[in-house]
Amino acid sequence: MHTIELYWTLEASSNATSSIERHCKNCGKTVRFTDTAVRRHNANGKNIYRFSIYKCEKGHTWNKKLAIYKSFTEHVEVLEEEFSIDIMEPEQLNILDYQGNGCKVVKIIIDRADSRLRLDKLLAEQLVGWSRTQIAQRIKAGHIRLNDQHVKPGAAVYTNDCIMIWID
Ligand SMILES: [Zn+2]
Repeated sequence: MHTIELYWTLEASSNATSSIERHCKNCGKTVRFTDTAVRRHNANGKNIYRFSIYKCEKGHTWNKKLAIYKSFTEHVEVLEEEFSIDIMEPEQLNILDYQGNGCKVVKIIIDRADSRLRLDKLLAEQLVGWSRTQIAQRIKAGHIRLNDQHVKPGAAVYTNDCIMIWID
């Protein structure tokens, strides 16, 4: 069984006021994106990607990639090299890509969650390829579980929680 393991740090900082104008794929035009103050770290192999999550007025998300850290451990303690990069396209977790690569399970460990987040809403914001309705259906069917439990779509996600997503 091929499993992908991701670590998410969902930091809420109180001083998010920055905004940026850029093209929104969903709106089909240039709109203003505002920083949601949520930061996410994806650890994948030896690289840690840090994202700042922005939203347009219609609520579409854009994940701005802030930096790549090189890590010699599996976790974030040892960091080397930090540099800013600019990317033209949003870097999001496309569940359909994982499916195409023969991945069966995506495991997401929440390193830190500063605010109370709904499971369905969090995944709808972070995953590309499934709508919030599809995500809710999968939670109800038990194909997405929280801490190995069959939960409701509105279940709250906290620090140290583990989300398991079965892809079929
Ligand atoms: Zn938009």
